[in-house]
Amino acid sequence: MDAASSLAAAREHGAGLAARDVRLWGLDAGALRYPVPLGRYAVASGIEYRREPLWSHRRTAGVLLKGMVFVSGAASPEETRFTFTHELGHRRLETNHGEGKDPVAEAAADAYAGGLLVSEPVLRRIFASRGIPLDMPLLPLDLVRLRDEIFSIACCHDGRQNFKVHVKTLVIALADNGFIEGETPFESHWRLLDHLSQSWRGRTSNGGRASDRRQG
Ligand SMILES: [Zn+2]
Repeated sequence: MDAASSLAAAREHGAGLAARDVRLWGLDAGALRYPVPLGRYAVASGIEYRREPLWSHRRTAGVLLKGMVFVSGAASPEETRFTFTHELGHRRLETNHGEGKDPVAEAAADAYAGGLLVSEPVLRRIFASRGIPLDMPLLPLDLVRLRDEIFSIACCHDGRQNFKVHVKTLVIALADNGFIEGETPFESHWRLLDHLSQSWRGRTSNGGRASDRRQG
């Protein structure tokens, strides 16, 4: 198996286990609010997390030690959520984080984190509530057209409820769940969104473009 297919298989494995845990832990209920409180995962998995205010170097976002995940005090709320669920992924996938950083293990843990934070049933419901049914896959160009809505659903502090994840996590989850048309590797989608996010941040710093939004 070449490197690209090993990574793809690892992502599929991580995302599959996350989808199973979401069902197993009853986190897919219709009434589920989002973002899912990390405490729910902590209770369900028996693994707690703690932010370490004094640990502010950025090289390591988090570490799993003695059944507890420690997250860097420098992490944003979005990073904290991702780091905790990524470490939880290592535990559930029985892979190690740290020494040598095996890219396959990291890809699986990332996919696990994305699958928990942006689970398929919630993704469908939230997009539908914003007037974007996912019955038909989005085209890559739809990501451009819908970018403000996508940022708002991911993490925008516009007073509306959001997943509290980096926009890349949301786009990767859309791709992993087959909600983006085509064979384009998911990296291309988040590179595109990353590029858009830079211009988008520039706009929000002077008040955003609420009038351009599709809804509300
Ligand atoms: Zn890792």
